[in-house]
Amino acid sequence: MDWWVSMPKIELHAHLNGSIRDSTLLELARELGDKGLVSFPDVEHVIVKHDRSLSEVFKLFDLIHILTTDHETVTRITKEVIEDFAAENVVYLELRTTPKKNVSKGMNKRSYIEAVLEGLRAVTMVEVDFLSEPSIDSQANGGIYARSDGYASNGTEKKKIFVRLLLSIDRRESTEAAMETVKLALEMRHQGVVGIDLSGNPIIGEWLTFLPALEFAKEQGLLITLHCGEVPNPVEIHAMLHFLPARIGHACCFGEEEWAKLKSLKIPVEICLTSNIRTETISSLDIHHFADLYNSGHPIVLCTDDSGVFSTSVSGEYSLAASAFGIQNREMFQLARSAINFIFAGDKESFSVFILIVIGLNGGL
Ligand code: 5GP
Repeated sequence: MDWWVSMPKIELHAHLNGSIRDSTLLELARELGDKGLVSFPDVEHVIVKHDRSLSEVFKLFDLIHILTTDHETVTRITKEVIEDFAAENVVYLELRTTPKKNVSKGMNKRSYIEAVLEGLRAVTMVEVDFLSEPSIDSQANGGIYARSDGYASNGTEKKKIFVRLLLSIDRRESTEAAMETVKLALEMRHQGVVGIDLSGNPIIGEWLTFLPALEFAKEQGLLITLHCGEVPNPVEIHAMLHFLPARIGHACCFGEEEWAKLKSLKIPVEICLTSNIRTETISSLDIHHFADLYNSGHPIVLCTDDSGVFSTSVSGEYSLAASAFGIQNREMFQLARSAINFIFAGDKESFSVFILIVIGLNGGL
Protein backbone atom coordinates (compact mmCIF):
# COMPACT_ATOMS: atom_id res chain seq x y z
CA MET A 1 0.00 0.00 0.00
CA ASP A 2 1.31 3.48 -0.80
CA TRP A 3 2.63 5.41 2.20
CA TRP A 4 0.12 8.22 1.74
CA VAL A 5 -2.75 5.72 2.09
CA SER A 6 -1.36 3.62 4.96
CA MET A 7 -0.20 6.67 6.93
CA PRO A 8 -2.68 7.53 9.75
CA LYS A 9 -4.20 10.91 8.97
CA ILE A 10 -6.29 13.67 10.48
CA GLU A 11 -8.95 15.46 8.41
CA LEU A 12 -10.13 18.81 9.74
CA HIS A 13 -11.87 20.44 6.75
CA ALA A 14 -14.49 18.19 5.15
CA HIS A 15 -18.03 19.31 4.26
CA LEU A 16 -20.54 16.46 4.54
CA ASN A 17 -22.51 17.28 1.38
CA GLY A 18 -19.29 17.89 -0.54
CA SER A 19 -17.92 14.46 0.38
CA ILE A 20 -20.67 12.28 -1.07
CA ARG A 21 -19.70 9.47 -3.45
CA ASP A 22 -20.55 10.22 -7.11
CA SER A 23 -22.23 6.79 -7.30
CA THR A 24 -24.58 7.74 -4.44
CA LEU A 25 -25.39 11.12 -5.98
CA LEU A 26 -26.17 9.46 -9.31
CA GLU A 27 -28.37 6.89 -7.59
CA LEU A 28 -30.28 9.61 -5.72
CA ALA A 29 -30.62 11.66 -8.91
CA ARG A 30 -31.94 8.64 -10.81
CA GLU A 31 -34.57 8.04 -8.09
CA LEU A 32 -35.72 11.67 -8.25
CA GLY A 33 -35.59 11.48 -12.05
CA ASP A 34 -37.91 8.43 -11.99
CA LYS A 35 -40.33 10.43 -9.84
CA GLY A 36 -40.17 13.28 -12.36
CA LEU A 37 -38.68 15.65 -9.77
CA VAL A 38 -35.43 16.33 -11.66
CA SER A 39 -34.25 15.79 -15.21
CA PHE A 40 -31.72 12.98 -14.80
CA PRO A 41 -29.68 13.60 -18.01
CA ASP A 42 -29.13 17.26 -17.02
CA VAL A 43 -28.24 16.37 -13.43
CA GLU A 44 -25.95 13.48 -14.43
CA HIS A 45 -23.91 15.84 -16.56
CA VAL A 46 -23.42 18.24 -13.61
CA ILE A 47 -22.47 15.47 -11.16
CA VAL A 48 -19.81 13.82 -13.32
CA LYS A 49 -18.17 17.07 -14.39
CA HIS A 50 -14.96 17.69 -12.46
CA ASP A 51 -13.58 21.13 -13.33
CA ARG A 52 -15.79 23.83 -11.91
CA SER A 53 -15.31 27.48 -11.06
CA LEU A 54 -16.07 28.57 -7.48
CA SER A 55 -19.50 29.90 -8.50
CA GLU A 56 -20.32 26.65 -10.38
CA VAL A 57 -19.42 24.73 -7.21
CA PHE A 58 -22.10 26.59 -5.28
CA LYS A 59 -24.66 25.81 -8.01
CA LEU A 60 -23.70 22.15 -7.64
CA PHE A 61 -24.27 22.37 -3.87
CA ASP A 62 -27.78 23.67 -4.50
CA LEU A 63 -28.38 20.60 -6.65
CA ILE A 64 -26.83 18.23 -4.09
CA HIS A 65 -29.07 19.71 -1.40
CA ILE A 66 -32.14 18.91 -3.54
CA LEU A 67 -30.94 15.30 -3.71
CA THR A 68 -30.11 14.89 -0.01
CA THR A 69 -32.75 16.70 2.00
CA ASP A 70 -34.52 13.98 3.91
CA HIS A 71 -33.43 12.34 7.15
CA GLU A 72 -32.79 8.90 5.67
CA THR A 73 -30.50 10.25 2.97
CA VAL A 74 -28.59 12.44 5.43
CA THR A 75 -28.01 9.33 7.56
CA ARG A 76 -26.90 7.31 4.54
CA ILE A 77 -24.43 9.87 3.21
CA THR A 78 -22.95 10.39 6.69
CA LYS A 79 -22.37 6.65 7.09
CA GLU A 80 -20.73 6.38 3.67
CA VAL A 81 -18.54 9.44 4.19
CA ILE A 82 -17.23 8.08 7.50
CA GLU A 83 -16.53 4.68 5.91
CA ASP A 84 -14.65 6.33 3.04
CA PHE A 85 -12.42 8.40 5.33
CA ALA A 86 -11.78 5.42 7.63
CA ALA A 87 -10.88 3.24 4.60
CA GLU A 88 -7.98 5.56 3.79
CA ASN A 89 -6.75 5.52 7.40
CA VAL A 90 -8.14 8.78 8.69
CA VAL A 91 -8.09 8.30 12.47
CA TYR A 92 -9.64 11.62 13.47
CA LEU A 93 -12.22 13.47 11.38
CA GLU A 94 -13.88 16.79 12.05
CA LEU A 95 -16.89 16.65 9.76
CA ARG A 96 -18.70 19.91 9.14
CA THR A 97 -22.23 20.39 7.91
CA THR A 98 -24.87 23.11 7.72
CA PRO A 99 -27.98 22.18 9.77
CA LYS A 100 -30.95 22.52 7.41
CA LYS A 101 -34.68 23.03 7.57
CA ASN A 102 -36.96 21.29 5.12
CA VAL A 103 -40.58 21.74 6.17
CA SER A 104 -41.94 19.37 3.52
CA LYS A 105 -39.83 16.54 5.01
CA GLY A 106 -40.50 17.50 8.65
CA MET A 107 -36.84 18.45 9.00
CA ASN A 108 -35.50 21.14 11.31
CA LYS A 109 -31.91 21.98 12.21
CA ARG A 110 -31.94 19.67 15.24
CA SER A 111 -33.48 16.70 13.42
CA TYR A 112 -30.95 17.20 10.58
CA ILE A 113 -28.04 16.84 13.03
CA GLU A 114 -29.77 13.90 14.71
CA ALA A 115 -29.90 12.23 11.29
CA VAL A 116 -26.14 12.86 10.98
CA LEU A 117 -25.60 11.23 14.40
CA GLU A 118 -27.72 8.30 13.27
CA GLY A 119 -25.32 7.94 10.33
CA LEU A 120 -22.38 7.74 12.76
CA ARG A 121 -24.16 5.02 14.71
CA ALA A 122 -24.94 3.12 11.51
CA VAL A 123 -21.28 2.55 10.63
CA THR A 124 -20.27 -1.05 11.26
CA MET A 125 -17.13 -1.34 9.15
CA VAL A 126 -15.04 0.51 11.77
CA GLU A 127 -15.42 1.62 15.37
CA VAL A 128 -16.64 5.19 15.46
CA ASP A 129 -15.95 7.27 18.53
CA PHE A 130 -18.18 10.30 18.49
CA LEU A 131 -18.79 10.87 22.19
CA SER A 132 -16.41 12.77 24.39
CA GLU A 133 -17.78 11.15 27.55
CA PRO A 134 -19.56 7.84 28.07
CA SER A 135 -23.24 8.66 28.50
CA ILE A 136 -26.54 6.93 28.27
CA ASP A 137 -26.30 7.33 24.49
CA SER A 138 -23.16 5.22 24.40
CA GLN A 139 -25.45 2.21 24.84
CA ALA A 140 -26.85 2.98 21.40
CA ASN A 141 -23.30 2.94 20.09
CA GLY A 142 -22.64 -0.54 21.44
CA GLY A 143 -21.10 1.00 24.56
CA ILE A 144 -18.15 2.31 22.57
CA TYR A 145 -16.26 5.35 23.77
CA ALA A 146 -12.66 6.50 23.92
CA ARG A 147 -10.28 4.38 25.93
CA SER A 148 -7.05 6.18 26.63
CA ASP A 149 -5.06 3.71 24.51
CA GLY A 150 -7.15 4.50 21.44
CA TYR A 151 -8.63 1.01 20.98
CA ALA A 152 -12.36 0.40 21.00
CA SER A 153 -13.55 -0.09 24.57
CA ASN A 154 -15.60 -3.19 23.71
CA GLY A 155 -12.41 -5.14 23.22
CA THR A 156 -12.59 -5.53 19.43
CA GLU A 157 -9.55 -4.92 17.25
CA LYS A 158 -11.48 -3.17 14.47
CA LYS A 159 -10.05 -0.03 12.95
CA LYS A 160 -11.11 3.05 14.84
CA ILE A 161 -11.98 6.57 13.80
CA PHE A 162 -12.74 9.52 16.05
CA VAL A 163 -15.42 11.78 14.59
CA ARG A 164 -16.35 15.19 15.91
CA LEU A 165 -18.82 17.61 14.32
CA LEU A 166 -18.64 21.26 13.39
CA LEU A 167 -21.94 23.00 12.65
CA SER A 168 -21.64 25.35 9.68
CA ILE A 169 -23.27 28.72 9.31
CA ASP A 170 -24.06 29.40 5.64
CA ARG A 171 -23.28 32.94 4.49
CA ARG A 172 -26.81 33.18 3.12
CA GLU A 173 -28.20 32.97 6.67
CA SER A 174 -29.48 35.79 8.89
CA THR A 175 -28.10 36.70 12.32
CA GLU A 176 -31.03 34.85 13.94
CA ALA A 177 -30.47 31.71 11.86
CA ALA A 178 -26.75 31.78 12.70
CA MET A 179 -27.60 32.14 16.39
CA GLU A 180 -29.97 29.17 16.16
CA THR A 181 -27.11 27.05 14.82
CA VAL A 182 -24.79 28.15 17.62
CA LYS A 183 -27.43 27.35 20.28
CA LEU A 184 -27.95 23.94 18.71
CA ALA A 185 -24.21 23.32 18.79
CA LEU A 186 -24.14 24.20 22.48
CA GLU A 187 -27.03 21.83 23.22
CA MET A 188 -25.34 19.02 21.28
CA ARG A 189 -21.89 19.41 22.78
CA HIS A 190 -22.14 16.15 24.71
CA GLN A 191 -22.86 14.38 21.42
CA GLY A 192 -19.59 15.34 19.81
CA VAL A 193 -20.27 18.83 18.44
CA VAL A 194 -17.05 20.72 19.10
CA GLY A 195 -17.22 23.89 17.05
CA ILE A 196 -18.65 26.23 14.46
CA ASP A 197 -17.64 26.88 10.85
CA LEU A 198 -18.55 29.85 8.67
CA SER A 199 -18.84 28.82 5.02
CA GLY A 200 -20.97 29.25 1.91
CA ASN A 201 -20.54 31.40 -1.15
CA PRO A 202 -17.89 33.99 -0.19
CA ILE A 203 -19.38 36.73 -2.34
CA ILE A 204 -22.67 36.56 -0.41
CA GLY A 205 -23.34 37.96 3.07
CA GLU A 206 -21.59 40.38 5.40
CA TRP A 207 -19.20 39.52 8.21
CA LEU A 208 -21.18 41.74 10.63
CA THR A 209 -24.29 39.58 10.09
CA PHE A 210 -22.53 36.52 11.58
CA LEU A 211 -20.39 38.26 14.17
CA PRO A 212 -22.93 38.27 17.05
CA ALA A 213 -23.49 34.51 16.76
CA LEU A 214 -19.76 33.81 16.39
CA GLU A 215 -18.93 35.97 19.40
CA PHE A 216 -21.58 34.21 21.46
CA ALA A 217 -20.20 30.83 20.37
CA LYS A 218 -16.71 31.89 21.39
CA GLU A 219 -17.86 33.21 24.79
CA GLN A 220 -19.52 29.83 25.40
CA GLY A 221 -16.29 27.99 24.65
CA LEU A 222 -17.03 26.63 21.18
CA LEU A 223 -14.04 26.70 18.84
CA ILE A 224 -14.44 28.47 15.53
CA THR A 225 -13.02 28.04 12.06
CA LEU A 226 -13.74 30.53 9.27
CA HIS A 227 -13.55 30.26 5.49
CA CYS A 228 -11.31 33.24 5.04
CA GLY A 229 -9.87 34.94 1.96
CA GLU A 230 -11.38 32.75 -0.76
CA VAL A 231 -11.98 35.94 -2.73
CA PRO A 232 -10.09 39.24 -2.47
CA ASN A 233 -11.77 41.11 0.39
CA PRO A 234 -9.08 42.70 2.61
CA VAL A 235 -11.58 44.39 4.93
CA GLU A 236 -13.28 41.10 5.74
CA ILE A 237 -9.98 39.23 6.03
CA HIS A 238 -8.72 41.76 8.59
CA ALA A 239 -11.97 41.59 10.56
CA MET A 240 -11.82 37.79 10.55
CA LEU A 241 -8.21 37.69 11.75
CA HIS A 242 -9.01 40.29 14.41
CA PHE A 243 -11.73 37.93 15.67
CA LEU A 244 -8.99 35.36 16.41
CA PRO A 245 -10.60 32.17 15.12
CA ALA A 246 -9.03 28.89 16.27
CA ARG A 247 -8.35 28.02 12.61
CA ILE A 248 -9.09 29.38 9.14
CA GLY A 249 -9.73 27.62 5.85
CA HIS A 250 -8.14 28.43 2.45
CA ALA A 251 -6.45 31.87 2.84
CA CYS A 252 -6.05 32.11 -0.95
CA CYS A 253 -6.42 35.83 -1.55
CA PHE A 254 -4.20 37.33 1.13
CA GLY A 255 -2.01 40.38 0.52
CA GLU A 256 1.31 41.05 2.27
CA GLU A 257 -0.32 42.78 5.23
CA GLU A 258 -2.75 39.90 5.76
CA TRP A 259 0.06 37.32 5.61
CA ALA A 260 2.04 39.26 8.18
CA LYS A 261 -0.95 39.45 10.50
CA LEU A 262 -1.82 35.77 10.07
CA LYS A 263 1.75 34.71 10.76
CA SER A 264 2.11 36.92 13.83
CA LEU A 265 -1.13 35.49 15.23
CA LYS A 266 -0.05 31.90 14.35
CA ILE A 267 -3.58 30.93 13.34
CA PRO A 268 -3.51 27.43 11.79
CA VAL A 269 -4.59 27.22 8.14
CA GLU A 270 -6.58 24.35 6.64
CA ILE A 271 -5.06 23.92 3.16
CA CYS A 272 -7.15 22.34 0.40
CA LEU A 273 -4.85 22.09 -2.64
CA THR A 274 -7.10 20.29 -5.12
CA SER A 275 -10.11 22.41 -4.21
CA ASN A 276 -8.13 25.64 -4.73
CA ILE A 277 -6.84 24.49 -8.11
CA ARG A 278 -10.13 23.04 -9.34
CA THR A 279 -12.05 26.21 -8.44
CA GLU A 280 -9.22 28.31 -9.94
CA THR A 281 -8.92 30.26 -6.70
CA ILE A 282 -5.18 29.60 -7.13
CA SER A 283 -4.00 29.27 -10.74
CA SER A 284 -1.28 26.65 -10.17
CA LEU A 285 0.47 24.75 -7.39
CA ASP A 286 3.78 26.54 -8.19
CA ILE A 287 2.37 29.70 -6.66
CA HIS A 288 0.29 28.08 -3.91
CA HIS A 289 0.82 29.56 -0.44
CA PHE A 290 1.38 26.04 0.97
CA ALA A 291 5.09 26.37 0.14
CA ASP A 292 5.60 29.66 1.96
CA LEU A 293 3.58 28.61 5.02
CA TYR A 294 5.30 25.23 5.19
CA ASN A 295 8.79 26.69 4.80
CA SER A 296 8.16 29.35 7.41
CA GLY A 297 6.91 26.77 9.92
CA HIS A 298 3.41 28.24 10.08
CA PRO A 299 0.80 25.77 11.44
CA ILE A 300 -0.99 24.10 8.51
CA VAL A 301 -3.05 20.99 7.92
CA LEU A 302 -3.79 19.34 4.56
CA CYS A 303 -7.50 18.74 3.96
CA THR A 304 -9.92 17.73 1.20
CA ASP A 305 -12.69 20.35 1.51
CA ASP A 306 -15.11 18.38 -0.69
CA SER A 307 -13.67 14.98 -1.58
CA GLY A 308 -16.74 14.08 -3.68
CA VAL A 309 -17.10 17.33 -5.56
CA PHE A 310 -13.37 17.58 -6.30
CA SER A 311 -12.70 13.82 -6.70
CA THR A 312 -9.95 13.78 -4.13
CA SER A 313 -9.04 12.10 -0.82
CA VAL A 314 -6.88 12.99 2.16
CA SER A 315 -4.29 10.49 0.95
CA GLY A 316 -4.37 12.15 -2.48
CA GLU A 317 -3.73 15.56 -0.91
CA TYR A 318 -0.63 14.24 0.93
CA SER A 319 0.66 12.56 -2.20
CA LEU A 320 0.07 15.72 -4.23
CA ALA A 321 1.83 17.96 -1.71
CA ALA A 322 4.82 15.59 -1.50
CA SER A 323 5.30 15.53 -5.27
CA ALA A 324 4.41 19.16 -6.01
CA PHE A 325 6.64 20.64 -3.29
CA GLY A 326 9.37 17.95 -3.19
CA ILE A 327 8.81 16.92 0.43
CA GLN A 328 10.20 13.60 1.73
CA ASN A 329 8.02 10.95 3.42
CA ARG A 330 9.47 11.60 6.86
CA GLU A 331 8.52 15.28 6.67
CA MET A 332 5.07 14.35 5.38
CA PHE A 333 4.54 12.07 8.40
CA GLN A 334 5.54 14.95 10.65
CA LEU A 335 3.16 17.27 8.85
CA ALA A 336 0.32 14.75 9.21
CA ARG A 337 1.08 14.23 12.90
CA SER A 338 1.30 17.96 13.65
CA ALA A 339 -2.42 18.28 12.80
CA ILE A 340 -3.14 16.79 16.22
CA ASN A 341 -2.24 20.17 17.72
CA PHE A 342 -5.11 21.88 15.91
CA ILE A 343 -8.02 19.51 16.55
CA PHE A 344 -11.04 20.93 18.38
CA ALA A 345 -11.59 17.91 20.63
CA GLY A 346 -10.08 17.90 24.13
CA ASP A 347 -6.80 16.60 25.55
CA LYS A 348 -8.20 13.15 26.25
CA GLU A 349 -9.11 12.64 22.60
CA SER A 350 -5.81 14.16 21.44
CA PHE A 351 -3.95 11.60 23.48
CA SER A 352 -6.05 8.71 22.12
CA VAL A 353 -5.57 9.93 18.55
CA PHE A 354 -1.84 10.30 19.17
CA ILE A 355 -1.71 6.65 20.26
CA LEU A 356 -3.64 5.58 17.14
CA ILE A 357 -1.16 7.46 14.98
CA VAL A 358 1.86 5.92 16.71
CA ILE A 359 0.36 2.42 16.43
CA GLY A 360 -0.39 3.07 12.74
CA LEU A 361 3.08 4.39 12.01
CA ASN A 362 4.79 1.51 13.80
CA GLY A 363 2.51 -1.20 12.46
CA GLY A 364 1.71 -0.09 8.95
CA LEU A 365 4.83 1.60 7.69
P1 5GP B 1 -23.06 20.86 3.86
O1 5GP B 1 -22.83 21.97 4.86
O2 5GP B 1 -24.38 21.03 3.14
O3 5GP B 1 -22.90 19.49 4.45
O4 5GP B 1 -21.90 20.97 2.78
C1 5GP B 1 -21.98 21.77 1.62
C2 5GP B 1 -21.89 23.25 1.97
O5 5GP B 1 -20.60 23.55 2.50
C3 5GP B 1 -22.04 24.17 0.77
O6 5GP B 1 -23.39 24.45 0.49
C4 5GP B 1 -21.28 25.42 1.24
O7 5GP B 1 -22.10 26.20 2.08
C5 5GP B 1 -20.17 24.84 2.08
N1 5GP B 1 -18.93 24.66 1.28
C6 5GP B 1 -18.46 23.54 0.72
N2 5GP B 1 -17.30 23.76 0.08
C7 5GP B 1 -17.03 25.06 0.24
C8 5GP B 1 -15.94 25.88 -0.18
O8 5GP B 1 -14.98 25.48 -0.85
N3 5GP B 1 -16.00 27.20 0.20
C9 5GP B 1 -17.04 27.68 0.95
N4 5GP B 1 -16.99 28.98 1.28
N5 5GP B 1 -18.05 26.93 1.36
C10 5GP B 1 -18.06 25.63 1.01
